[in-house]
Parts: sequence; C-alpha cells; structure tokens
Amino acid sequence: MYRDLMDILRCPDDKAVLELDIDEEADDGEVLQGTLTCTECGHSYPIDEGIPNLLPPDLQEEIQAELDEATGNI
Ligand SMILES: [Zn+2]
Repeated sequence: MYRDLMDILRCPDDKAVLELDIDEEADDGEVLQGTLTCTECGHSYPIDEGIPNLLPPDLQEEIQAELDEATGNI
C-alpha cells in the first residue's frame, strides 16, 4: 500500500485515525510490511506484502483458526 491510503484508512471498529509503522518499504515508497495501529482503541492491523488487513481483531483470529484447521496446521 502507499502512504496516500492513510488519508482514507480508518479503524473498522471506531473509525478513528490509524498510525503507520513501517517494517519494510519498496524503492518506490510502497509499504510492504508494517503495522497500522488505531489511535483510539489501540488495535493493530498488519500490512502483509503491501496489503493492509483491516479485519477486526476477533475476525482475524477466527479466520486464522479456520485457515489452520483447513491446512491441518494445529
Ligand atoms: Zn479503533
């Protein structure tokens, strides 16, 4: 994702502004790995391979559990 997105991305829970922590950035400025943290509720949302994952935390856990189950990765 690009930093411009920060202008429109909001926490799915409370629509608050998110704070960007960059772990890895491409030469053209695209954020590849990082974390978006809500300034209001403190939930953090991962950016993985340039894609921000803005699912609410409980849904993230649920999906991960189902993925683990589907791949026999428990
Ligand atoms: Zn929030």
